[in-house]
Amino acid sequence: MKPLKDRLPPDAGQVGTVYLVGAGPGDPELLTLRGAQLLAEAEVVVYDALVHEEGLRLSHPHADLVFMGKRAGCKSPTQPEINERLIALGRSGKMVVRLKGGDPFVFGRGGEEVTALSAAGIPCVVIPGVTAGVAVPASLGIPVTHRGTAGSVAFVTGHPGKGLPDPVAWGKVVHAVDTVVIYMGITRLRDIVAAMLDGGADPETPAAVIAHGTTGAQRHVIAPLAELAGAVERKAIPTPAIIVVGKVVAERETFTTLATVALPTGVLG
Ligand code: SAH
Repeated sequence: MKPLKDRLPPDAGQVGTVYLVGAGPGDPELLTLRGAQLLAEAEVVVYDALVHEEGLRLSHPHADLVFMGKRAGCKSPTQPEINERLIALGRSGKMVVRLKGGDPFVFGRGGEEVTALSAAGIPCVVIPGVTAGVAVPASLGIPVTHRGTAGSVAFVTGHPGKGLPDPVAWGKVVHAVDTVVIYMGITRLRDIVAAMLDGGADPETPAAVIAHGTTGAQRHVIAPLAELAGAVERKAIPTPAIIVVGKVVAERETFTTLATVALPTGVLG
């Protein structure tokens, strides 16, 4: 592999480059090699709430670590504030890694950050990450597609942006694809399930909720769709959590060996 400096854009280091790096779903070992390499070299790392602190250990010992995310009980920065901060850091001429949970472009507002940085003339490079919607079900042995069972999958948000209409036609999506993977859906789980059932979804459709996937704190419930919300409440499943609806959930028994492989020995607490 070429050394990092030969792979950087030619203007890197002049006005600063911001690397939007996907941190993966939780376990730092699921960060890409390129992400890890950039993290080791960055002078500033701006990370969000989904990034496990264990992953930050991959950063340079002298790097400035800046938390910019949403955590319960703390005042959260707004997206324009985050954008401004990234622009200011880029202008300072430093090498900046903006570390975001999962993949920066999957419900990660990475697009907004790239747009703001580009408008300000700051070079910006996106390094994809392993998204929670694929890796978290896999860690439990649930494949999001499976030949003969699921030939299509939809990744949808359960949380429309503030003031925006719900972008998901819940009653339709259950007929349009075989597997539905829902991000940010726990607080609206009852409404989402009701809308799916109203749309004609089979109440017996296998479904799962998996929280803190790929970490030692992973918790899950598996239940038929109609009973999912009750099961989640009874077990007090925390967030962040991924919801999976579809026959693939029932395939899990077949893939439990893979699930063990996906969780390395050094899993996080
Ligand atoms: N960009 C991220 C998603 C950000 S939206 C990605 O590609 O994965 C935040 C949502 O992601 C959470 O509400 C939850 O639904 C999901 N999520 C992220 N990490 C998770 C994890 N370790 N376990 C379960 N769900 C997770």
